[in-house]
Amino acid sequence: MDLNRKIIAIDGPSASGKGTVASRVAAALGFDYLDSGALYRLTALYARQHNADWSDEAAVAALAEQLPAGFDGGRILLGGQDVTEAIRTEAIGMGASAVAQLPKVREALLQRQRAFLTEKGLVGDGRDIGSVIFPDAALKIFLTASARIRAERRAKQIGVPTQGVAFERILADIEARDEADSRRAVAPLKQQPDALLLDTTHLTIEESVKKVLDWYAKI
Ligand code: C5P
Repeated sequence: MDLNRKIIAIDGPSASGKGTVASRVAAALGFDYLDSGALYRLTALYARQHNADWSDEAAVAALAEQLPAGFDGGRILLGGQDVTEAIRTEAIGMGASAVAQLPKVREALLQRQRAFLTEKGLVGDGRDIGSVIFPDAALKIFLTASARIRAERRAKQIGVPTQGVAFERILADIEARDEADSRRAVAPLKQQPDALLLDTTHLTIEESVKKVLDWYAKI
């Protein structure tokens, strides 16, 4: 069987809910799940631990090459240490966005991402899964939502009220990251011509998951 038929690529901006949708779709189909953003976040954290500047391409790429990453039933490990929460801060998100602009870092993480694919099948989420990592994936989705809705979801997730100064900061951070991810020279965030658009602004997680499964059933 053509293994590409068992690959679903879900790309989109940060805090769009693509991680939740992708992991639930993977569970429903019995596929593995690749959280590629976590690899960039881990790289940013690892660079910080080694006092490497996030703009130092050679140093960060060398660290990415030997990134001691581990994925263990939903927990994310770095050098054996559980960093699941530590990589989710906005600061590390910005660091991930910074190191993700460096071509040598992307190159260093390319094979590692492809290695997640096995006979089981794979749902991958990120920015360039459908364009660069698995260009022959059977189903490609661009999953997005308005910046405000994404900021509201992020705020609820971390227990911040959806109005006020703290909320405006979250919104500004999301907009800044969108801007950085869309304008960068390598693998910019944008909907590919062969990707289906899934705008979740007015959809629940369950509705979004169902939509992806419906599309997959039809290919
Ligand atoms: O998806 P997540 O917010 O965890 O990704 C963190 C950062 O990593 C993004 O802002 C983006 O710059 C980068 N990234 C990327 N390519 C991917 C996944 C994430 O450039 N495939």
